[in-house]
Amino acid sequence: MKKIIDVYGSELVEDYQKVITDFGLDTFPLDLFPEPNRIMRRGIVFAGRDFKQIAEAIKEKKPFYVLSGIMPSSEKIHFGNKMVVENIAYFQKMGGKAFILIADLESAAARGVSLEEAQKRALDFHIPSYIALGLDPKKTVFYFQSQNKDVIHMTYEFAQKITLNEFRAVYGAADPGRILSALTQVSDILYPQIKERMPGIIPTGLDQDPHIRLTRDVVRRTKQKKFFLPSSMYHKYTPSLDGSLKMSKSKPMSCISLPEDPEVVCKKLKRALTGGRESVEEQRKLGGTPENCVIFELYKQHLIEDDKELKERYDLCKSGKILCGECKGYACEKMTNFMTQLEKDIEKNRSKVDKLNFVEFS
Ligand code: SF4
Repeated sequence: MKKIIDVYGSELVEDYQKVITDFGLDTFPLDLFPEPNRIMRRGIVFAGRDFKQIAEAIKEKKPFYVLSGIMPSSEKIHFGNKMVVENIAYFQKMGGKAFILIADLESAAARGVSLEEAQKRALDFHIPSYIALGLDPKKTVFYFQSQNKDVIHMTYEFAQKITLNEFRAVYGAADPGRILSALTQVSDILYPQIKERMPGIIPTGLDQDPHIRLTRDVVRRTKQKKFFLPSSMYHKYTPSLDGSLKMSKSKPMSCISLPEDPEVVCKKLKRALTGGRESVEEQRKLGGTPENCVIFELYKQHLIEDDKELKERYDLCKSGKILCGECKGYACEKMTNFMTQLEKDIEKNRSKVDKLNFVEFS
């Protein structure tokens, strides 16, 4: 059976190296990117496509863009969004022009959320949250998909460039909603290039790679437009607290939303899968296995910024000097601080939405 990366699925990837090989991805070249952020340094950003053109643009101080979308159908965000924002913030710091689109058309088509409601949610919650997580609003161009006539025109144009069979090969299934949504994403990814010809990078989860591949196919078939092939950068998933899946709202006790009541989150952490041993004696003697521990993965991906502190935590676990109960208490403390600060920052950033740089369409 032909392998696909399922845009709509929630399976946890067990072997990221195999994914790189199977889908012809490039391993993330840490040495090409100056001052890598936490998730780059720790191998959580692991792969992508066409990194060199972005690394060169950074080195030679040439224009490039970084783009991502907000899906306002949901009322909360998650750790995957947090990693995307952290990577956008990185590229902003490196001189990239950031574009954030509000996928109000897709929210309406996929979840039945009205355009007005989607726009309201984006302004009241999603954009302030992105700013709270590190997005620099002064260096960001925003637009609503429904108002961007260029994107709508491009979507119609690109529809002539793919066949149903190709679509099935990339996505595994083809129905009118998926096709329209995917083609709109292709247009979003290329939109900054119709304003200024420059390379661009899309930081995202691995599950969005089919959209990147489709966009690259479309670029190859519209040579006269001289688009750069889009680059992409993928982060690993934050695992579900039971360790079985990537975090998904379908399993609320195993999923953490942003923001979420710290008390509730701490209760969930108490039940999380760890790399602890069968008994206290065994753990004291053999140490734990942080490599198999969801709590440690949370430290590594999100809760501990300082590399030295992370290493100390790792050593404490490995040496058996700490047991899982105490360690979960520490995770709860870290998580409480994070959620409390996030709530405050979202509130504070609500006042900034009036001054955002939205593209005006006549
Ligand atoms: Fe995980 Fe902490 Fe237990 Fe180690 S001590 S296995 S890091 S919960």
